Amino acid sequence: MTNYSGSKCPKCTNSSFEMVEDAPYGSKYKHMYIRCMSCKTLVTTVPYFNTYAALEKIAKKLGTRLD
Ligand SMILES: [Zn+2]
Repeated sequence: MTNYSGSKCPKCTNSSFEMVEDAPYGSKYKHMYIRCMSCKTLVTTVPYFNTYAALEKIAKKLGTRLD
């Protein structure tokens, strides 16, 4: 991807970012991290497509369990 916004890494001022999938410690769900391609400094996280969380809510409403 090209960095159209001119955003820069707060640490090394590199302007290339990448999106990686990860599950933060203590989280039941996966997240997408946006980080610097050069020094891997995390810029922000965005929730992964949270299908499981949605299913869990529906199951709770129905009074059933997923497991
Ligand atoms: Zn960096």
